[in-house]
Amino acid sequence: MVSDARERVRDTLSVAPTAALAGAGLTPVATSPPARRCSARFQGKPRPYFGPKRPVTAPAKETGNKKAKLDPGLAQASVSEVNDASGESSANAEALKREIGKMRAKVDLALIQASQSVANGVSVEGSANEEDGCSQNRSAKSDNLKVKQTLRVFNKHYLNFVQEEEQRVKQAPKLSKKKGFGGTEEEVKRASKRPDLKAITKMIENGSVLYNEKRIGHIPGIDVGQQFYSRAEMVVLGLHSHWLNGIDYMGIAYGKQDQYKSYTFPLAVCIVLSGMYEDDTDNAEEILYTGQGGHDLLGNKQQIRDQKLERGNLALKNGYECSTPVRVVRGHESRNSYCGKVYTYDGLYKVVKYWAEKGVRGYTVYKYKLRRLKGQPRLTTNLVNFARGQIPMTISDLRGLVCEDISGGQENIPIPVTNVIDDPPVAPTGFIYQKSMQIAKKLKLPTNVLGCDCKGDCTNPKTCACAALNGNDFPYVQRDGGRLIEAKAVVFECGPNCGCNLSCVNRISQQGLKYHLEVFRTPSKGWGVRSWDTIPSGAPICEYTGILTRTDEIDNVAENNYIFEIDCLQTMKGLDGREIRPGDVSSLINLDDKRAESAEYCIDAGSVGNIARFFNHSCQPNLFVQCILSSHHDIKMAKVMLFAADTIPPLQELTYDYGYALDSVVGADGKIIKMPCHCGAMECKKWLY
Ligand SMILES: [Zn+2]
Ligand SMILES: [Zn+2]
Ligand SMILES: [Zn+2]
Repeated sequence: MVSDARERVRDTLSVAPTAALAGAGLTPVATSPPARRCSARFQGKPRPYFGPKRPVTAPAKETGNKKAKLDPGLAQASVSEVNDASGESSANAEALKREIGKMRAKVDLALIQASQSVANGVSVEGSANEEDGCSQNRSAKSDNLKVKQTLRVFNKHYLNFVQEEEQRVKQAPKLSKKKGFGGTEEEVKRASKRPDLKAITKMIENGSVLYNEKRIGHIPGIDVGQQFYSRAEMVVLGLHSHWLNGIDYMGIAYGKQDQYKSYTFPLAVCIVLSGMYEDDTDNAEEILYTGQGGHDLLGNKQQIRDQKLERGNLALKNGYECSTPVRVVRGHESRNSYCGKVYTYDGLYKVVKYWAEKGVRGYTVYKYKLRRLKGQPRLTTNLVNFARGQIPMTISDLRGLVCEDISGGQENIPIPVTNVIDDPPVAPTGFIYQKSMQIAKKLKLPTNVLGCDCKGDCTNPKTCACAALNGNDFPYVQRDGGRLIEAKAVVFECGPNCGCNLSCVNRISQQGLKYHLEVFRTPSKGWGVRSWDTIPSGAPICEYTGILTRTDEIDNVAENNYIFEIDCLQTMKGLDGREIRPGDVSSLINLDDKRAESAEYCIDAGSVGNIARFFNHSCQPNLFVQCILSSHHDIKMAKVMLFAADTIPPLQELTYDYGYALDSVVGADGKIIKMPCHCGAMECKKWLY
């Protein structure tokens, strides 16, 4: 029994101190258990950015500008020197190259800083101050959060338009027989039907585009290596402001602004390499980029006339002359991504050379040589492929494999367990895997719910009785295997008394596991879960299962860290700082219930449960909890389901917010119990409770 208890503590999630104790072979002190373990709060819910447009960047101090103008000369000199020296192979030339290399690194660093100072309206010198450095660090954190929130708002709009499009196609099936989009003129015309472009328009209308003003250099909150899943995502962030063109540039109007007086416009700020001209990018640190224009837009994209030194081409030339940095984004085909394409921000480059030449078909094309600035994080452009290389092809290939399928065949995709931390590697023990919820003996679920009369799939929100409960709409879209449009107060799904079949769009959470998950041993947080696939935002992950029971019936709380309180009602009422979600359910659910102060029912996954019991807490989670009603309508016993809050790249740990209120956990002696948080998130609140 003792070893059993210890094992259970060892398996405890997110409880590094005890895990460390157990690892050291010590019996952990029996700390008083948390009074409440998890609540269905979703604190990570996007706060829509509908506020005022971001202020125009303040004029940079003269020093910043001067720096940007001063260094370019140096940079250009060094480039031509290298070119001159390239003909010789003497030791002198080598030494010169080394010297120039050092110089270049310095120049690049100054360029990055100068461009950032222009963008942020602060002087470069200011950042040398330690206190200043700190505050910059803090603002960097919230910049990251802003990026995340903007993408969540984008996804919500995008999925709404996807739904609109799915409805339209269902109502007019003949119109939908056309092929996918590419970029021909005809396709551009039809673009008005594209949900991603509609979402861009919506966000521009609402003023929720993150950076409306174009800027030179890095975009605050977007790190080198960050990935995007459509051109539209980059547009709404202001990373690259056009959904089709390769070159994004600041127009001549920017020249009127004070901080840009010393630059020549149009000025290139960002390019997207589509990966179509692969020999253009043979060396990742150096790019050979072909200018725009002169292509046959209607047919085979061949050159049909001369390119001109205008617009994007002129903007890149001016970038060379002002020696301003250009952001580079690379697009990759990606098979394990639901969208087929992934874009990676590769950091800042600068144009070091440009020229015109006759292309294969005899027409003039402009060529630009760009070189990556030194002093930036390592190039991660190959991460897409690299990550794929790390994703095992078969389960038996897994390093540290301790269990081939922890579900024992219950899930439709096996869930392997790996452990490369412990020696000898142990597997999780002390619980029985159960894919579906068990009901405590004394408990009876209500069964008096009526279903809808739909046949086959529920398609018409005007006639489906279940859609009516969701505010006359379906909460999901069919695309990408089913995605929830946004977190809601509660989702009413079709149930056993509905006429539709299991593939109905309103049964997305009933269709079983859709992604390849792996339970893995973390260095400091016990077990964790990650996915081998890219998971789209809004995708269902799994239900939180265990034994559904009355909260006051739990007697072994002392050793049980797997209690999930069903607090949907508390969330709807916004108790204890919970964020109220969209969806008016006041006519369906009794919000005045006096017992609503605390959760009446909970899910005990201590001895019986599924994959969900292995998810760790994070203060900046990538999953959220959604309450679902289908077979009955008692909100206090609602089904608890986890969904992706963001698009989650492969191998990123899956986490949700356990939702403890601070100082909410009180021990048997009446004293508040504190538990430090080890989630590692940039915005970590430091305490789990
Ligand atoms: Zn249905
Ligand atoms: Zn229906
Ligand atoms: Zn139904």
